[in-house]
This record gives sequence, structure tokens and C-alpha cells, in this order.
Amino acid sequence: ETTLLWLRRDLRLSDHPALASAVSGGPVIPVFVLDPLVEGWGAAPLWRLGESLRDLSARLAGKGSRLVLRRGDALETLAALALETGARRVVWSRLYDAPSRARDEAVKAGLKARGLEARSVNGSLLFEPWTVETGSGGFYKVYTPFWRAVSQRAPAEPEAAPPRIPAPESWPASDGLDHWALGRRMNRGAGIVAKHASIGEAAAQGRLGAFLGGRVGDYADARDRLDLPATSGLSENLALGEISPRTVWHAGRAALEREGGPGPETFLKEIVWREFAYHLLFHTPRLTTRNWREEWDGFPWRGDNEDAEAWRRGMTGEPAIDAAMREMYVTGRMHNRARMLVASYLTKHLMTDWRVGEAWFRDCLIDWDVASNAMGWQWAAGSGPDAAPFFRVFNPAAQVEKFDPQGRYRERWIAELSRNPGEDAVEFFDAAPQAWGLSPQQAYPKPLIALSHGRERALAAYRALREAA
Ligand code: FAD
Repeated sequence: ETTLLWLRRDLRLSDHPALASAVSGGPVIPVFVLDPLVEGWGAAPLWRLGESLRDLSARLAGKGSRLVLRRGDALETLAALALETGARRVVWSRLYDAPSRARDEAVKAGLKARGLEARSVNGSLLFEPWTVETGSGGFYKVYTPFWRAVSQRAPAEPEAAPPRIPAPESWPASDGLDHWALGRRMNRGAGIVAKHASIGEAAAQGRLGAFLGGRVGDYADARDRLDLPATSGLSENLALGEISPRTVWHAGRAALEREGGPGPETFLKEIVWREFAYHLLFHTPRLTTRNWREEWDGFPWRGDNEDAEAWRRGMTGEPAIDAAMREMYVTGRMHNRARMLVASYLTKHLMTDWRVGEAWFRDCLIDWDVASNAMGWQWAAGSGPDAAPFFRVFNPAAQVEKFDPQGRYRERWIAELSRNPGEDAVEFFDAAPQAWGLSPQQAYPKPLIALSHGRERALAAYRALREAA
């Protein structure tokens, strides 16, 4: 009996429970549906998706299979494809944000109403969010006890890719990937970003192996250094499911057993931060759109504004901030410590609503992850669970001295500060839209705001909020 494998954020062949389930039933038709929810993704994630689909198509071909591309409403498209191919069953890996859940529930109900079998499984998390419970049966709002609960449970061992994927007698028609032009909104030059990306399942596996075979030893100490390539880089692969978190987890555990030391354990803890973000998102769907702590609704955030625009363009005059914003524009990624700094600067020094920054990250990050991005922003703004206390305002000038002691990170990204700027620094100006009117020859801007003034202004607003509560 033929099964439709509806692929979404699980673009790999190994450790793929939905694929395994489909293969066990007979012929499989893997399908990706470009539906309105996916079309609504930001420019960089959508471009990155296209690259991932290209890679997956080739891998599927290597297993005697194909990737069928269809565009339209998810339910209508899947139902029509089932009718066309005689498939009786549709399987997929779950997603956890509210819009995807609403869509998936409607798809499941609609398929069943048409007499089809519909089945969803876990393909993106170590554990389903509802299976990790506090002693009193609730969900976790604080990371450390969540880590303890998760690390004491062993996630299932990853499964190998099936040797072959049974094909149907004839293949249904597919849209052309190039025709979809998923990179069309990348006005920053997809070629530039591509140079920095590591696309697909084999690249992800290679990355994991290289990291755990080397850099992980220094990871605990070096991961905060802006100027060192100390982290795994796996977020862009995890975001699209090019590698499963179980694969990463078990490889991390093996490194811990082999080498000990704080590196592997710190890495496992980061993997569980991703898991925690999904746990929070599942239990409090408003994480992506509303202040998680409702008392923050009274905070006088500024909406979008000129200072925020300077922030987006990497022209705040604060080198740590501008280097990071330019890094993101050119590579589609940003160092974790830098994400914390730019988010704190936007929400505190510039008093701008975290949703303004969240939206820009959503457009620019090739590792955009609905849960980690929302959690990161609310954490930095102070409005989230387990948030940075508001009175702890990062000083970007002091932080960058600590985590970029020789100034290499700033030099790498800010052409105006260097007599002889490197390729990446200049590429930022090639990537930036012409409408921004930027040039590496212009003078580096003066700071938008004195750091001490920005800090005092934010703290005064925070005190007023506390007093009003
Ligand atoms: P490593 O240090 O090698 O960590 C391994 C993996 O652990 C990562 O790939 C990631 O899956 C997970 N991880 C690490 N740190 C975190 C964290 N703080 N929260 C959740 N998961 C974590 N991460 C995204 O994947 N997508 C996002 O859209 C995103 N937006 C963020 C926005 C803000 C404001 C902040 C402060 C953080 C955000 N993060 C996001 C988390 C973090 O910055 C990235 O996961 C990390 O920089 C990715 O680099 P890496 O893969 O080399 O990480």
C-alpha cells in the first residue's frame, strides 16, 4: 500500500521515524508542499530551505526514490495527491508552533474524513514536550530542572537510513524547484550567504564528526569567544532537520564517555536548550508573539523606529553590535553571544520592542528556529521565562573587550574600522541593498546613544513598570 511521506522540517534520511514507518508499509512517495505557512517564512530561511530540498532530492534519488514538489493548501494538495496515486496513508514528523499545529490538525481531520489514514510521529525532538513533566505534573519554566529531567532519560538510539526506499509503479508529476524560486526575496545576494553555509545531511554529519573529534574539548571555555570558530555550527542543519537531535545527542554522549571533561557536557546542555525552547513553545504558544510575562505588556517599548533601522543595517556606531548585525547579513548566522548582545542593545539601550528584532532575525537567519528565536528574544528582553533579569543590562563595549580581546571579530566585519579590510567586511557592502546607500569608504558612524544614558533610560522605565505593578 502506497504511503505519502509529507516532509517538512525533517529533510534527511537517517534517524527518520516517519520515513521508517512509511517504508515498512510498501511504496513511498516523499512530498514537500509549499503551502501558505511555508511561503510566509523569511527570506533567508526560505532560500536555505530550497538548498536543502535540492540536497534531499539527490539523496532520495540515490535510494531509488524521488522528491515530489507541490504547491498549494496542504490538505487539498495531499488529498489530491493521494487520489492521483492511490495512496491510502500519509505520515509526517510533528511540528510544535501554534500555526503549524492548527494546520496539521486540520490536515489530519480532513484526510480522515476522506477515508485516509493520517499519522504523525516525533522526528525533531529528543522527547515530546508533553512527556517531560515536573514532580507535580506541570511543565518546566526554568531550564536547570528541565535539564536534570531530560538528561536522566535516555532518548532512543538513532536509526540508520533505510537501504532502499520502495518506489511506486509510476511517479506523479512534480513542480520544478527552480521554478519555485525560493531565493527570490534574498536581496542580499544568495551567493554570498551560500559560501558560508553547510547544506544537507552529509554536511551535517561531517560537521558533527569534525566538532566532536576536535573543538569540543575547548567548547566549554571557548564557546563565548566571538573571534573563534569554537561551536558546532549545527543550528542551520537542526533547523531543517538535516540531522536529528537524537543523532547529535548520542554522539555527544559518546564523546563525553570517551573524553570526559566539561566540553561534551556543555554541548549536551546546549542541545537541551533547543529542547527547552520547544517545551516552552508547546506549553505556552504565545512565546512567539506575546510577552511571556504578561506584566511586560505595560512596558513602554518603542515600535519600529529609525534607531532600529540603523541596528538592522549594522550602523549603530557600537562596533560589537554592528559587527554582529553584519555577520548575520553576510552569513545568515550570528554567534550566540553576539545574539545576546544585539538583542539586549535593541530592547534595552534602544528600548525597542523585542518583536521588531525577532522579525529581523526571522528574515535573516538561515538557522531560523521558531522556538529558539522567540525564547532567545524574550530571554534577552526580560519578558520571558527564565529571563535575564532586566537590571542586568549588557554593556556591549565591555563584553566585546572580554570576548573579542584582540578585536578580530570587529575587524572581520567592519570595513570602515580597518585600513585593509578583509573580504567578509567588504562583502557586507556588496550584500546590503542599494537603497541603504552604504559604502565601505564612508566614515564609521558615531554611537546612536551613549551606553550609560541608554542603560539609565531603560532602568528608569523598568522601575516605573515595577512600581505600577
Ligand atoms: P552550538 O554552540 O554548537 O550548540 C549546539 C546546538 O545547541 C545548536 O545548534 C542549537 O541547536 C542548540 N543551542 C545552542 N544554544 C542555544 C540556545 N541559546 N537556545 C536554543 N538552542 C541552543 N538558535 C537557532 O537555532 N535558531 C534561531 O533562530 C535562534 N535565534 C536566537 C535568537 C536570540 C536573540 C538568541 C540569544 C539566541 C538564538 N538562538 C537561535 C540560539 C543560539 O544562538 C544558536 O542556536 C547558536 O548560536 C547556534 O550556533 P551553533 O550551532 O554553532 O551552536
